[in-house]
Amino acid sequence: MEHVDPLTGFRQDGRRVNEMRQIRGEIGVVAKADGSAQFEMGNTKVIAAVYGPREVQNKNQQINNQALVRCEYSMANFSTGDRKRKPKGDRRSTEISLVIRQTMEACILTHLMPRSQIDIYVQVLQADGGTRSACINAATLALADAGIPMRDLVTSCSAGYLCSTPLLDLNYSEDSAGGPDVTVGILAKTDKVTLLQMDAKLPMDIFENVMQLAIEGCKAIANYIREVLGENTKELEYRRGS
Ligand code: UDP
Repeated sequence: MEHVDPLTGFRQDGRRVNEMRQIRGEIGVVAKADGSAQFEMGNTKVIAAVYGPREVQNKNQQINNQALVRCEYSMANFSTGDRKRKPKGDRRSTEISLVIRQTMEACILTHLMPRSQIDIYVQVLQADGGTRSACINAATLALADAGIPMRDLVTSCSAGYLCSTPLLDLNYSEDSAGGPDVTVGILAKTDKVTLLQMDAKLPMDIFENVMQLAIEGCKAIANYIREVLGENTKELEYRRGS
């Protein structure tokens, strides 16, 4: 079956080519953490928990003029159903942990918290493509919930190219169709790209279109995250006032 119906222009899951999956974010889902959030992009569902700023556990890693940011990405054993399953600590998880750490580090004001440590744990509960983007979006919400100072909001979304059409926010079946998958992260306020990953190859002009689509997705997510944070602040103020 075609990934984009040539007659109707709809994708297999009923979306239009430039339509994102339904997104949902919720703050404060892990009681013990300093900040936490759940983020869903369609059937992809992840949780982020932030601890810190706290004392550096391994003093050899302490940095005198900034905070040490650590990140651990993992997939729950039940997150992928009967698809390929890999144990924790495989190369893919190590790479994604690094990518998320670097992306979050770009927005945290680490120089305000010297000699401290911030731990970001992201766990995939349900995987259906785009888990690294969902984790970055969850981590942004969790960092804000923890009150960690940030220079901007970082959000992420992917886009691909199938059936000669750029497609926003690939799900697993689209992602595994063998086409290119471009994951982008942006700093929403300052309009900067902080993350860009792509597999497979694309002609340059098409790449620009696909990347533009992913950036539009990131911006829509940033607007939504602002709403979630705004609602959360209102609720806190209400509780404080009552
Ligand atoms: N996936 C899986 N098992 C694995 C790794 C990946 O089922 O061990 C699926 C999962 O749905 C994931 C998708 O393949 O979202 C695409 O994985 P990729 O490595 O491209 O990263 P992602 O798109 O999740 O950031």
